[in-house]
Amino acid sequence: MARPSANAPCPCGSLRKAKGCCLPVLLGAPPPSPEALMRSRYTAYAVGDTAHLIRTTHPASPHRQADVRAWAEELRQYCAAVRFVGLTVHAASEEGDTGRVRFYARMTLDGRDVSFGEDSRFSRVDGRWTYVDGERIEG
Ligand SMILES: [Zn+2]
Repeated sequence: MARPSANAPCPCGSLRKAKGCCLPVLLGAPPPSPEALMRSRYTAYAVGDTAHLIRTTHPASPHRQADVRAWAEELRQYCAAVRFVGLTVHAASEEGDTGRVRFYARMTLDGRDVSFGEDSRFSRVDGRWTYVDGERIEG
C-alpha cells in the first residue's frame, strides 16, 4: 500500500517528518483535528493511498461513489497523473462535530499548473473526522 517514507518530509508541507505528521493517520490513528485530516488526505493523494481517501469521505458527501471499486480506480489514476507539489493551510477551525479548512493545493498535470484553493467542510462521524465537500476559492 502507498505510504510516505517515515523519515522523509511529510508531503503535506508541515515541515515535519511523515512519521510525526500524516503517517499515523494514514495507518489508522484518528486525526486530532479537521486540519490533520485534510493534511492526511493531501498526503494520501500525493502517495496514492486511495483507501484512506475513500475511508475519510463522509457517508453523505457528494464525492462518494456507490461503486467503490470504480471510485478507487478513478482515484488511483488521478493520483498517478497529478504531481502534488505542496500544500498551504490558510485557516482551520472546528466547532462541535463540524470543521472548516481553507487551503491552497499546488499541483501539476502534464506540466500544467492545476493548483487550486478550497474552503473545505468536515464532519465528525463516530469520533473520526471526515471530508464532506468544499468550495473553490481564489488562492
Ligand atoms: Zn503531513
